Amino acid sequence: MAKILDGKTAAAEVRSEVASEVTELRERGVPVRLDVILVGEDPASVTYVASKERDSQEVGIESRIHRFSADVSQEELSGLVGRLNEDTAVSGFFIQLPLPEGLDHIPLISSIIPAKDVDGLSPESAGRLAVGLPSLLPCTPHGVIQLLKRNDIGLSGREAVVVGRSNLVGKPLAQLLLRENATVTVCHSRTRELSSVTRRADVLVVAAGRREMVGAEHVGEGAVVVDVGIHRREEGGLVGDVRFDEVEPKAAWISPVPGGVGPMTRAMLLHNTVMAGRMGSRGQ
Ligand code: NDP
Repeated sequence: MAKILDGKTAAAEVRSEVASEVTELRERGVPVRLDVILVGEDPASVTYVASKERDSQEVGIESRIHRFSADVSQEELSGLVGRLNEDTAVSGFFIQLPLPEGLDHIPLISSIIPAKDVDGLSPESAGRLAVGLPSLLPCTPHGVIQLLKRNDIGLSGREAVVVGRSNLVGKPLAQLLLRENATVTVCHSRTRELSSVTRRADVLVVAAGRREMVGAEHVGEGAVVVDVGIHRREEGGLVGDVRFDEVEPKAAWISPVPGGVGPMTRAMLLHNTVMAGRMGSRGQ
């Protein structure tokens, strides 16, 4: 029977650390504030932003939402990004993605200064991560690493296999695993004989966005399996990229969906905001 990588507990630890840091910063006269740019009425985006606002309030981070209708111009958003970059009251900010059709998120994200890029997704933040310079780390990959570390799962020298190479999850996760001295293999939709590659993994992280794609045949005995995928079931509830019931008896550790990587992603946004607040207070 596998042990559970409990994201709820680890995320509660992170939130409590963040809350202490927010208090300490506030006592030094440094308020921590997270701004969000929300465009359009996509129900998932509206829900995510509301939950991020609630999370912030719980740990004492002030939050402001800049709401726009879907027909806002690229120039208007670009102007706001510029102002938020300059505004010393704003610790960090992010643009809730995806943006409605007709708007291009790449130039907007690219113009967020690294010290305020709490999503860690700008090309500059990604480049800093790749060359080993300090940066705010993308929340989901960083959440995966924290989930492993907080359960004392060592990565140095181990075989880590990541399924997925997106800019949001797979690529930055591969960088972070390398930073932890794992031997890293990245798989994607063109990988041949996926199961023979994934079976080699001591640590297997699945971020393919394919519902219950990974089964017992993909997993070696005693592997650590982290499921990043999130899919809504028609009958209600959530399910991941991994067939939990099939994989769990083979794995040493496994993260559930829900209650695994999801809560860590949310917690790492708060962590990044307080880091940004600290950098801002030092004028970095
Ligand atoms: P993307 O769709 O951007 O990327 C998916 C990646 O998986 C691609 O690199 C793709 O390869 C690869 N892939 C797809 N099918 C296969 C396959 N059959 N075999 C091997 N590789 C495959 O997804 P994201 O990275 O944005 O998200 C991945 C999942 O994680 C989604 O379910 C998403 O909802 C979830 N997610 C969860 C978060 C959380 O907090 N828990 C946060 C962010 C995402 P190729 O590049 O060749 O197309």
